[in-house]
Amino acid sequence: MIEIGQQQEQIMSESNVPRGCGGCTLCCFTHAVGTSEKKLKGPDTWCKHCDIGRGCAVYETGRPLACHDFKCAWLEGEGEEADRPDRTNVVLCWQYMKYLGQTFVMCGGTSDALTTAYAMRITEKYVRRGIPLLREHHGGKRELCFDDEVIVEEKLRQAYEAANVRIVYLSELTATQ
Ligand code: SF4
Ligand code: SF4
Repeated sequence: MIEIGQQQEQIMSESNVPRGCGGCTLCCFTHAVGTSEKKLKGPDTWCKHCDIGRGCAVYETGRPLACHDFKCAWLEGEGEEADRPDRTNVVLCWQYMKYLGQTFVMCGGTSDALTTAYAMRITEKYVRRGIPLLREHHGGKRELCFDDEVIVEEKLRQAYEAANVRIVYLSELTATQ
């Protein structure tokens, strides 16, 4: 389970322009929050504490640690100012994954969010750099995308397919969009 939250503090982007969540609350919809013992919310549903487009109602008084710690990749400087997640409907973040290490994850806020030109450009950008990229579509479909040159070990393929994550290659993905 990916755990997230909202980040209102301003941090610096790669272009040294401070970024804050502003009117974005998309990760409070796209991501599950909680632990195996205590679940606050599942993916693709608004958190009961979210004032959509405004912020977290329990920001000061009791948001989970996972929410406190979460910073999406846009907040950390990925992409342009205009790419804020509530405008693209795509939340980007880094996550440590078994067999893969640091993996770039993109979550779609709508059913077609990961098929847009923006989402495909981000997919291509990271995959071409040799970074594994997990695409989590709204509704639950998940794809782990690799560059065409990568040889995926059978152990990895079996582990991810058992978890309902389809292994896809970039050329396959771009041919179907
Ligand atoms: S998706 Fe990013 S910018 Fe939007 S609320 Fe979450 S951390 Fe903030
Ligand atoms: S507790 Fe607050 S920051 Fe965490 S998901 Fe809910 S609304 Fe977002």
